[in-house]
Amino acid sequence: MVLNVRNLVAWCYGIYLLSSGKVRKLKEKSKNGAFILSVYFHNPSKKLFELSVKWFLKNGFTFISVKDLITIKENKLGFPPMAVIFTVDDGWKENQQNIFEIAEKYQIPVTTFIATEPVEEGTLFWWSYVNIALKEKWQVPSISEMKKLKNQNRLDFINDIKSKINKQERDALIPEDLINYQYSNYIHFGSHTVTHPILSNCTSEVAHFEITQSQKILQNWLHYPINSFAYPNGNYTEREIAILKDNGYKIAFNTVPHYLTPDKMSNIYEIPRFDVLEDVSFVENICRMTGLWFERKKLK
Ligand SMILES: [Zn+2]
Repeated sequence: MVLNVRNLVAWCYGIYLLSSGKVRKLKEKSKNGAFILSVYFHNPSKKLFELSVKWFLKNGFTFISVKDLITIKENKLGFPPMAVIFTVDDGWKENQQNIFEIAEKYQIPVTTFIATEPVEEGTLFWWSYVNIALKEKWQVPSISEMKKLKNQNRLDFINDIKSKINKQERDALIPEDLINYQYSNYIHFGSHTVTHPILSNCTSEVAHFEITQSQKILQNWLHYPINSFAYPNGNYTEREIAILKDNGYKIAFNTVPHYLTPDKMSNIYEIPRFDVLEDVSFVENICRMTGLWFERKKLK
C-alpha cells in the first residue's frame, strides 16, 4: 500500500465495512447462488495475489473458471454457491511469477486476457510510452486525454514518442510464458485485442482487426479455441459485441463494478467485474473484491 491520506481513510472505511457483519450477510446470500463474485487484476504483487486467493479459500469460496461460466450459460444452470472468478487483464511479465505460479500452487483457475502485440513484439503497453514522455516533460496529452482521442491520433502520438526513445525493457509476458501453460488445468488465456486501443474510438475496420487478429495469434500459440474477451479500458459499443459474436467468442467482460447476478448472464458479452488496485490496502481490496466497497453506489 502507498501511504497517503486517501489510502488511510479508505483503510479505516474498509475496517468498518469488514467488522460490521456485512461479510457474513454477503456469504449467506452467496450460499444461495444469488451472485458470483467476478474480480479482475492487472499486475498485482505475489503477496497481494496470494493473500487474495487465501482469503477467499479461508472464507469458504470456490473458484470457478470462465469456461464454467460459459457452461452455466449454455446449459441454463443455476449459480454454484459461494463462487468467485478471477481474471487478469493485459499480460504483464510479472504475472508469470506472481499469478500463474500461485494459481497452480493453490489449484485455482485464472483467465488472463492478453494484448498480443506487446507479447509478440516486446513493445511496451502504449500508456507506458506516454508515461516516459510525461517524465521527459514532452508536450503530449495525458493518458486519460489520450483515451478520448480518435485511435489514429493516439497512435500518431505514441509512434512519435517511440521514435524518440531508446529501446525499453519489455512490459509484457513472452509467448513462451503462455505456451508453457497450454495444457494447464488452471491457467487459461483470452483476448484483450492486439494493441489495447479504446475500441469505441476505432474505425470498424480497426475494431474488427483488433478483435480477430488477437484471437488468431493466441490460437496459433496455444492451439485451443480462444473464445473469451475483455474490453480494453472497459470501452465498447454494440458494434464490438456483434464482431465478437460473429467470430466465435462466447463471453466478454467489461469493467462495470457489479455483482454477477443471474440476470446479468442474459448478456454474456457484458459480464461485470470488480477491480483490484495495486497501491491500496489489502483491507480495501477485500472490500472491492466482495463488492462491499461499491455498495455506497447503491449496487444490488
Ligand atoms: Zn487492459
